[in-house]
Amino acid sequence: MRPITDHDIRTSFINCSKGEAKRLGTPKDLADLPWDDLDFLGWRDPGAPERAYLVADHGGALTGVALRVTSGAARAFTSRSMCSLCLTTHTNGGVALMTARRTGEAGRQGNTVGQYVCADLACSLYTRGRKKAPGDGALMDESLTVEDKIARVRVNLEAFLDKVTA
Ligand SMILES: [Zn+2]
Repeated sequence: MRPITDHDIRTSFINCSKGEAKRLGTPKDLADLPWDDLDFLGWRDPGAPERAYLVADHGGALTGVALRVTSGAARAFTSRSMCSLCLTTHTNGGVALMTARRTGEAGRQGNTVGQYVCADLACSLYTRGRKKAPGDGALMDESLTVEDKIARVRVNLEAFLDKVTA
């Protein structure tokens, strides 16, 4: 994705109030992020561990989504979990349930969309092999090229954003 600024991020949110968007913690190192290798910008709020954010181009517009993180601690020791965006498998809480309030009337009625996502939201880096998940078997996707995996992340992300805005 193209590099974006703190201001771009704060004005991109579609499912939280302007006040929330103004107050939320953005990544400190925006200028140094590997933008060429990011399909979306995702991060945990440094000041509020139960909050996460995701910003991506969606239908030609920069679209930010505020997420609530449900800790994966309860399942961490019993199962491996898979990220539904990049399909990386993690152990020990590396995947978390993240829930987005939907936009419009659905959101006002309390409707949300939940998805299991890499807890650090670094799907783009896992997909490109720039980051390794401890315990990721990598057995399922051996036949896929990195380009195919990147395309799949984008398809899954689009589908998620479609559900949030539907
Ligand atoms: Zn992921």
